[in-house]
Amino acid sequence: MMGHSHALSGVVGWMAVVPLLQGTEFFGVGFDLGSGEIIAGGLVCAGAALLPDIDHKSATVTNTYGVVTRTLGALFNWLFGGHRNGTHSLLFALLMGALTQALALWSDLAVQIFVFLLIGIAFNGLGFGMDKNKTAAEVINALVTAGITLALFTNDVNYTWMGLAVAFGCLLHFIGDMVTEMGVPLLWPFWKYRFGQNMGFKTDSKIERKVVTPLLTIGIILYSVYLFPWPELIPES
Ligand SMILES: [Zn+2]
Repeated sequence: MMGHSHALSGVVGWMAVVPLLQGTEFFGVGFDLGSGEIIAGGLVCAGAALLPDIDHKSATVTNTYGVVTRTLGALFNWLFGGHRNGTHSLLFALLMGALTQALALWSDLAVQIFVFLLIGIAFNGLGFGMDKNKTAAEVINALVTAGITLALFTNDVNYTWMGLAVAFGCLLHFIGDMVTEMGVPLLWPFWKYRFGQNMGFKTDSKIERKVVTPLLTIGIILYSVYLFPWPELIPES
């Protein structure tokens, strides 16, 4: 799958689980998801849905923050045994989820910074990183990302769901790779079998561009109509 399809799947995926999570409790964490949490969660999940490809040097996520993400990418590639190995395992999803959840519990500021970084990755994946004018695209991306992070901050969004959204985003990435021809070693390092190898459609094929991407986009629109309390959001004149 292309970066933007992965990112879109993160947004739709999060919106799809919101009604299921609403009002439930998970490891002692209660979920009360308002519009702010839905938007923040969708963007965090979209950013996380790009994370597993950090082991590849030409991936969106690896190139989002220049030398910083490239160095991290080289480190992850080394730690997790090369491209599409450990970073495409359930262990990685669990690890990322646990790490970010710990971050969310530890410090408000740390989580704001992490959300900012993930939203930047998400927008880069969604196509704000237009190739034609890279500097302008990067400036726009940074401004929009900062604006949204600030809006979420001033709306008092709580991040108790952080770890879950990150782990779930990684899982959605694996599904995205499996429905294309790429296999994913879900049980790495215990069993290196690649689930979904040579099944599904080609990356950047007609099916992806003309069917999958539009369907994901329509999914976001439909869920937006369904999930947000529109009458409350439109100011009375
Ligand atoms: Zn991948």
